[in-house]
Amino acid sequence: MAEELLVVSNLKKYYPITGGVLGSEIGVVKAVDDISFSIRRGETLGLVGESGCGKSTTGRSLLRLIEPTSGKVYFDGVDVTALKPEEMRKMRRDMQIVFQDPFASLNPRHNIAKILEEPLIVHGVGSSAERRKRVEHMLEVVGLNSYHARRYPHQFSGGQRQRIGIARALMLNPKLIVADEPVSALDVSIQSQVLNLMQDLQREMGLTYLFIAHDLSVVRHISDRVGVMYLGRIVELATSSQLYTKPLHPYTQALLSAVPVPDPDDVRERVILQGDVPSPANPPSGCTFHTRCPHVMEECRTVRPPFQDVGDGHYVACHLYKTD
Ligand code: ADP
Ligand code: MG
Repeated sequence: MAEELLVVSNLKKYYPITGGVLGSEIGVVKAVDDISFSIRRGETLGLVGESGCGKSTTGRSLLRLIEPTSGKVYFDGVDVTALKPEEMRKMRRDMQIVFQDPFASLNPRHNIAKILEEPLIVHGVGSSAERRKRVEHMLEVVGLNSYHARRYPHQFSGGQRQRIGIARALMLNPKLIVADEPVSALDVSIQSQVLNLMQDLQREMGLTYLFIAHDLSVVRHISDRVGVMYLGRIVELATSSQLYTKPLHPYTQALLSAVPVPDPDDVRERVILQGDVPSPANPPSGCTFHTRCPHVMEECRTVRPPFQDVGDGHYVACHLYKTD
């Protein structure tokens, strides 16, 4: 069995921009622009970056909830981009998603039993009695009670609703969970409870996570490795400790310098980025970060830096680091 559960290679998702009276294509939004990474079995890969950098598009493309423009996604050795709809449907048993906003993703007219039972029915799993048992069991697994099955989404708090979202993702015993900012909508006091639950579940069920967040501090503790996205590309990927102690990419350095540090002796220099994030419809040439980079050099304006391992599995796409 290969060590990698998920291998993503050269994934792209471009959205056409249409305009004019004829609605013809006048450009593209490069939401995800040629990214490659893999996730090992049982690993948590964090994916961070500012809003709009392509995190959700990446997560959804992997599950083909949206169709990638190009690139390959191998799950358990199978190229999911080549699967027919029926085969893809079966494959989704093993790859599930938890959304940021549990309220929007839970049908308000269905009670919790029905919401949790649905994936089992879709995949033809178990008898009615067995399904009911599984619902009650899963509610307890995520820290709720079996009597909650009869209630409706609006009767729960945000944190409880996200527990239901997690329970639904776990109903079919998946291998991979794409968690798309699962705690971003929750109060800070509730965030750590949900994060702890997800870590416990991972240990108990041997889950593999792609954990998306816009905030580096959220992914730090839950992630084995972290990838940093900027304008549709992964600019750096390393183990959590490598990334936090020795960030290489100027963008990562800037992001980290903005994270408040509890230690008053840690006098890290704050890097203030100039300007706004450019539009993914008209990204800068060369390194897309060059318009805001404090270390910009001539070649950064024209040559896209390769995403390469600069040692110990620490990947960075930056002309400051040459391996040859
Ligand atoms: P993130 O999750 O990091 O906030 P997204 O993946 O949602 O970012 O979006 C990446 C980029 O793609 C953004 O510029 C967004 O506006 C654009 N985008 C997302 N979905 C669509 C769509 N359906 N049509 C056109 N553009 C889209
Ligand atoms: Mg998103």
